[in-house]
Amino acid sequence: MTSAPASAQSGTQPRPEFQASSKLGPEKTDAVVIACSDRRYRQPMDEFLSRGLGIANYDLIAVPGGAYILSFADVLPKQLKLGMQMVKLLMRNHLPPRIVLVAHQDCSRYREGFTTWLRRPGFSLEEKQRHDLISVSASLRDAFPDAAVQAFFAKSHAGDSVVFEPVSGA
Ligand SMILES: [Zn+2]
Repeated sequence: MTSAPASAQSGTQPRPEFQASSKLGPEKTDAVVIACSDRRYRQPMDEFLSRGLGIANYDLIAVPGGAYILSFADVLPKQLKLGMQMVKLLMRNHLPPRIVLVAHQDCSRYREGFTTWLRRPGFSLEEKQRHDLISVSASLRDAFPDAAVQAFFAKSHAGDSVVFEPVSGA
């Protein structure tokens, strides 16, 4: 077994427990949210979900690129399988009536995945992301016909504020 990094060993005293002031929520949730793990959008998204959509409790699947994990069945079938397993587990156990997809502007997962495409004239990363949200929404509706599926695209607006646009066709 390898030893812990020096930074982890620097505090020799065992740390006391930390008691959170936030309370445990219900296990049944209002929605499964599939979003990018990018921290810049986390707080604005939490506000959007609660105040904009009225979702008080939600399960979050936060992975780089969000719906990216449910796209590209042809080239990334294992990734798609893993993503669908995660969604199915939450749908089965926490019975959420809604699935919400959130993508965002300037997403590093998409930027890295489509580096060479960005040089092609007419290629738009945002259009690609919106297209993927539409097709993933359709797949989720097929897989979970009882759930309402919605998709949104988040972008910066007037400096550092964030707007969430419904994706038409999704
Ligand atoms: Zn991202």
